[in-house]
Amino acid sequence: MNQNYHQNTAQSRRINERLRRRRRRRAGIVIFLLAAILIALAAVYVGLLIRGRDDRRDPPVDGDTTPAVIETTAAPETTAAPETTAAPETTAPPETAPAPVTFTTLNLSRAEMLRGPLVLVNSSFPYTFPANEKHLVNLYGNRSRGYQLGSAQEKLAQNALDALNRAADAFMAATGETGLLVSNNGTYRSFDAQEKLYMKRVDAVGEAEAAKYVALPGVSEHHTGLAFDLAVYVDGKTYQLNALETYSGFPTYLVEQGFVLRYPANKVQVTGIGYEDWHFRYVGIPHAKYMTENNLCLEEYLNTLRGYQFDGTHLLVTAGGVDYEIWYAPVAAEGDITTVMVPNGLPYSVSGNNMDGFIVTVMLGRAQ
Ligand SMILES: [Zn+2]
Repeated sequence: MNQNYHQNTAQSRRINERLRRRRRRRAGIVIFLLAAILIALAAVYVGLLIRGRDDRRDPPVDGDTTPAVIETTAAPETTAAPETTAAPETTAPPETAPAPVTFTTLNLSRAEMLRGPLVLVNSSFPYTFPANEKHLVNLYGNRSRGYQLGSAQEKLAQNALDALNRAADAFMAATGETGLLVSNNGTYRSFDAQEKLYMKRVDAVGEAEAAKYVALPGVSEHHTGLAFDLAVYVDGKTYQLNALETYSGFPTYLVEQGFVLRYPANKVQVTGIGYEDWHFRYVGIPHAKYMTENNLCLEEYLNTLRGYQFDGTHLLVTAGGVDYEIWYAPVAAEGDITTVMVPNGLPYSVSGNNMDGFIVTVMLGRAQ
């Protein structure tokens, strides 16, 4: 019933208009290709075996479960040229009118605002530890060959680990370099581990200096399993990432897979943490791209997203050849349940921001 009610909202119209434009563009490209093929055929000796139009489909993307809405955009098969002698083009499936995108509601509890790849964890917004560590995966035994481990105890959330593996593999394939190192104690840290680390640092350099780089227990991103520290290990020596030119290009690969450099030099005033060329945080592919391109740290990005709500303008991002649509849903002013609008029939994800709401990320499909 919610579906029907929301079918005619402005949002529904807008998202459908966007999908229609995508279809028209795709149809245009197909017609152009058909015309080109026909011209080529005319130039070729008549009687050659002519194959039908390639049933060329987009290559699958990781996690791309793009449903029928987008994939049923076969060409409307206009018989463009009169000399249709050649083309056995007529076997295209009949066009089924794609269903319009409708929305439904999702009821989320406040506890869910504390989870997801876009949670903000800093001195103002402590991390709330989940009841167990089931969401964490040991890197030892699950890492790709693209990097080494500082210890066998390193753990990350599955999505962060998968993204790191892809980034490291791509980097190794492109450069042949195998010296990337996930630092010892550089991934998930429990509260106790963080406390130990902090006290050790205080003993070494004093409280004021320690606070610049080591977070107080409870407010470290390392608690989330979404962050890791990176170094380079070559010829028996450990280096900082930026110390070696070959490796200083690796962050680009990380951004493509959904990580951001969490504490850039020009954001110290906002993050409260000194520049760390080694600390990366998983936020998800479109978010990492938008943040990096627009020079926004996580604090700033989440603030920006407050301006993109369901009933208003949505943020549109194309990343990795895929179009995404993003909006923010503020947490309910009262009660435990927040009702969030999500699309039917399009892949989406929802993340809390650990502050005051949720971010909905919709995958519209491959960019054209
Ligand atoms: Zn770190």
